[in-house]
Amino acid sequence: MSETPKSAAAGKPDDNAPNFVDELVQAEIDAGRTRLVTRFPPEPNGYLHIGHAKAIITNFSLAKKLPGAHCNLRFDDTNPANEDTEFVTSIQEDVRWLGFDWGEHRYFASDYFQQLYDMAIRLIEDGKAYVDSQSLEAIREGRGSFHVAGTNSPFRDRSVAENLDLFRRMRAGEFDEGAHVLRAKIDMASKDLKLRDPVMYRILKVPHHRTGTEWPMYPMYDWAHGQSDAIEGVTHSICTLEFQNHRGLYDWFQQQLGVVDPPRQIEFARLNLTYTVLSKRSLQKLVAAGHVSGWDDPRMPTVAGLRRRGVSPDAIRAFCDRVGVAKRDSFVDVTLLEHAIREDLNATSPRLMGVLRPLRVVIENYPEDAEESFDLALNPSDEAAGSRAVPFCRELFVDQEDFMEVPAPKFWRIFPGNEVRLRGACLLTVNRVVKNDAGEVTELRATWDPESRGGNSPDGRKVKGTVHWVSARHAVDAEVRLYDRLFTEENPLGHDDKDFLEFLNPASLEILPGCKVEPAVRDFAPFSRLQLERMGYFAVDPLSTPDGLVLNRTIALKDSWSKVVGKG
Ligand code: ATP
Ligand code: MG
Repeated sequence: MSETPKSAAAGKPDDNAPNFVDELVQAEIDAGRTRLVTRFPPEPNGYLHIGHAKAIITNFSLAKKLPGAHCNLRFDDTNPANEDTEFVTSIQEDVRWLGFDWGEHRYFASDYFQQLYDMAIRLIEDGKAYVDSQSLEAIREGRGSFHVAGTNSPFRDRSVAENLDLFRRMRAGEFDEGAHVLRAKIDMASKDLKLRDPVMYRILKVPHHRTGTEWPMYPMYDWAHGQSDAIEGVTHSICTLEFQNHRGLYDWFQQQLGVVDPPRQIEFARLNLTYTVLSKRSLQKLVAAGHVSGWDDPRMPTVAGLRRRGVSPDAIRAFCDRVGVAKRDSFVDVTLLEHAIREDLNATSPRLMGVLRPLRVVIENYPEDAEESFDLALNPSDEAAGSRAVPFCRELFVDQEDFMEVPAPKFWRIFPGNEVRLRGACLLTVNRVVKNDAGEVTELRATWDPESRGGNSPDGRKVKGTVHWVSARHAVDAEVRLYDRLFTEENPLGHDDKDFLEFLNPASLEILPGCKVEPAVRDFAPFSRLQLERMGYFAVDPLSTPDGLVLNRTIALKDSWSKVVGKG
């Protein structure tokens, strides 16, 4: 993906370009195209995931290329069984959060049910569609295979009058599910299997989240989708590669209906990410079985999950830009996403301090009742970020990880007799280790150098280790949730003999209940992003309150994963 863009000759896409769809449309614009309408067509049967984000970014960005161009948000709600208003709401929220606006161009395929029905009547009248009364199984068998031609249904030659009568009665709800379907009458021997008399309508007595019980039958996706695009005047139907072999059928429908200027379908490779599952059906399973707390669990690759985790829309966009839009299916290494997240958070996050596994330090030469505070920059490399007061007193917390009673080689942090720097506060030396009956370290007794206020070395003496800390008297309690990948396998869905749930990472969530953070963290509203120095990037959980602070770790500062598996 690192190749530099090559300019595409008008109408001749360069499949190797970083974003070949963009180049192709640009070439059309250069050649005089004046109308441009794209669409993002989700089925409201789940929350959007980062693969959808790629499709959203692709379509909405294209619509910015020409004045007057726009991108429609169309809900493909033709399969009521799994669809719900909750998903309509969440999809809209996620598209907006990603930074895109459909304006007045929000549509539902269900708005076209009557038009689609009328078009189907026209096809029947023209002898291009018929009611088949075979069982679904017989229909499937009759379709043949790649090597074997299909066989005509015994109902294929019904008269137009009989077809019209049966179809109208299907519409009126006279028949049970499975009694009849409407099929296009194309060619049961076609090399293109999609053209072997595909089903257009099936009877389904399931209420629809928008049309209620008005329709006892519903259009199939392949019938509704292309016509919906045409009704909306979409100029570019951009979809994923698996729809390449549907194109012949879409063209056939539009030819029969005499659609002028039909949409141009362009297929691109869907986003696949290692250690991640990008399929609403599979994500739904995780939610339903309680393997995650919901669609917005911070471990989920959903837009809602990423948002709760602390990932910004900018990071998602930067990631998608870097992945590009290609014509060949491939897996993107999840470390690339993690890299984009870190890069974004590094540039934007305020820095604060918090201790995840607290160990108490008592400064014996600091007066019992005294306290002071240090004014520390929220982002040392960005003055505009301002500063906050960090309180300091006789008792502090440091992180257990920063202490070793007997230091390992090259360990320069806290151990008895070693002087360290408390970030922004002072130089401090631990003199004594207090233990409980079980021999566990419960407290450190230390002295500080009052001349080192602000963390400076008063006489230029070298101090190798710097650690973060919080004042024990002022610290705020927090629950911190640490996340790891949800799956232990690169391609959890890529095993025919194993269910993807077998690859769930049992250690994907670690909850640390007794963390201590500096008081300023309490001022951060839900979803705010911040860095806890040396500990990583965090986001305030939406269910967090000032008295029950909950922080989700978005990502650690350094990529420990590549080191563990010896990659990268
Ligand atoms: P899923 O398999 O997750 O349910 P879908 O394609 O069935 O995905 P839709 O709601 O139909 O879900 O998708 C809406 C749009 O998002 C489609 O145009 C589809 O091509 C696109 N899309 C879905 N998944 C991806 C992906 N992984 N990468 C890029 N685009 C995607
Ligand atoms: Mg789908």
